[in-house]
Amino acid sequence: MYDSIVIGAGIAGAVAARKLAEEKGKNVLVIEQRSHIGGNCYDEKDESGVLIHNYGPHIFHTGMEEVFSYLSRFTEWYLFGHEVVAKVGGQLIPVPFNLNTLHMVYEKEKADRLEQKLVAAYGEGSRVPIMKLRENEDPDIREIAQYVYENVFLRYTMKQWGQKPEEISPEVTGRVPVLISYDNRYFQDKYQGVPKDGFTPMFEKMLTHPGITVKCGVDCKELLKLEGDIIYFKGEPFAGDVIFTGALDELFDCRFGRLPYRSLDFKFEHYDEESYQGHSVVNYTVSEEFTRITEFKYLTGQKDANGTTIVKEYPFAYTGAKGEIPYYAIPNEENQALYEKYRALTAGMKNFHLLGRLAEYKYYNIDAMTKKAMELAEQL
Ligand code: UDP
Repeated sequence: MYDSIVIGAGIAGAVAARKLAEEKGKNVLVIEQRSHIGGNCYDEKDESGVLIHNYGPHIFHTGMEEVFSYLSRFTEWYLFGHEVVAKVGGQLIPVPFNLNTLHMVYEKEKADRLEQKLVAAYGEGSRVPIMKLRENEDPDIREIAQYVYENVFLRYTMKQWGQKPEEISPEVTGRVPVLISYDNRYFQDKYQGVPKDGFTPMFEKMLTHPGITVKCGVDCKELLKLEGDIIYFKGEPFAGDVIFTGALDELFDCRFGRLPYRSLDFKFEHYDEESYQGHSVVNYTVSEEFTRITEFKYLTGQKDANGTTIVKEYPFAYTGAKGEIPYYAIPNEENQALYEKYRALTAGMKNFHLLGRLAEYKYYNIDAMTKKAMELAEQL
C-alpha cells in the first residue's frame, strides 16, 4: 500500500513527505500523534479570533534561497525585520545587544569611546558571542561584556535552561551574539517573517497531494514495531523508507534512561485592548519567572482581531509526564553520548531515518530543518 512512512507532521516530516510524494512518486503515509499537523509551528485563532502560535512564537528566517523558494510554493509571506527588546529596569533595550543598545545604556562620551574600541577589536558589522566577548582583555570591553552578561544573558538563561551561560553549550548563547552594528533586528537573514495566512495553512497545502495520506491522533507505536533490524508495519515487515521525527528515547521506551529536554508552560492572556506591550516580543532578562512575552498581533500582522492576545513562557525540565512537551534538546557531551546509545539501536536498519529536533536531538531552526528534510528526501 505505502512506499514510505513519515512519523510526525512538523516541518521535518511535512517537507520530507511532500518531496517523496511529488518528486519520487512515492505513496507516503504520515502518522501524527497530535490531533493536528504542523508540529510546534501550529497556529490557530483563539476564541477571541486572534491568531496565536499554540506552541510559542515561531518566526521563519533564512538566507537560503532554495529553502525560501521551496516553502514559498505553499504560502505567501508577511515579511518584516523581526525585532526584540529586553526589559531591563525601566528601560526597553534592543536585543541582540548592538551599538544602539550601547548608546542607550552608557552616556554619550563613554558610549562613543566603547564603540570605537569594539569596532577596532572586532570590525564593523561583526557578530561576537557573549562568551567570546568576555574573554577580551581590554578592561573597557570586559565592562561591556559584563553588562551584557548580567543584563541580557544570566537570568534569562538560568530561567530557560536552569544553568548559567558558561555551563551550557556555547552554541546556544551564540545564537544571540553581540552585534557591532546599528542593526536592531534579531536575525540578520535576508528573509524573515511568517506565512501570510499562518503556518497551519502552509502545512495543509504542503501535505495536500495525491501521494500523501495523513493520519492524525495516531501513536506510531500502534502501527510500527522495531524488532532486531526489521521494521514491522501492522505486523508485516516493511521494506520502504521510514522517516522518524519523534523522540528517539521514547521510541525505545527510555531503556537507557531519559534524554533530558527543556519544556515550556505557555500562559495565554487576552485583553480587550488595542495593545498590550506594543512589541511582538519582550524578553525579561533580569526579572520575572517567565522568559518572554509575545504579543501575537505584532508578529502575525493581523489587523482584524478584537483585542490582543499575549503569551508568557515558563520553562521547566521535561519529565515525560503526560501532557508535557519536549521543546529543546540540551546539547552537551553527556547528553550526546546518551543520544548516541539510542541512535546505535537504529544503525542496522538502513531504511530507518532520523530527522528533526527530537529524533536528532538537535537545536534546529525552521529553515535548517527544511533544508535537512529536503536533502534527506532527495537522497532516498
Ligand atoms: N538568550 C538570553 N537572553 C536573551 C535572548 C537569548 O540569555 O534576551 C540566550 C538564552 O540562553 C536562550 C539562547 O540565548 O536560550 C537562545 O535564544 P533564542 O532566542 O535563539 O531562543 P529560542 O527563540 O530558540 O527559544
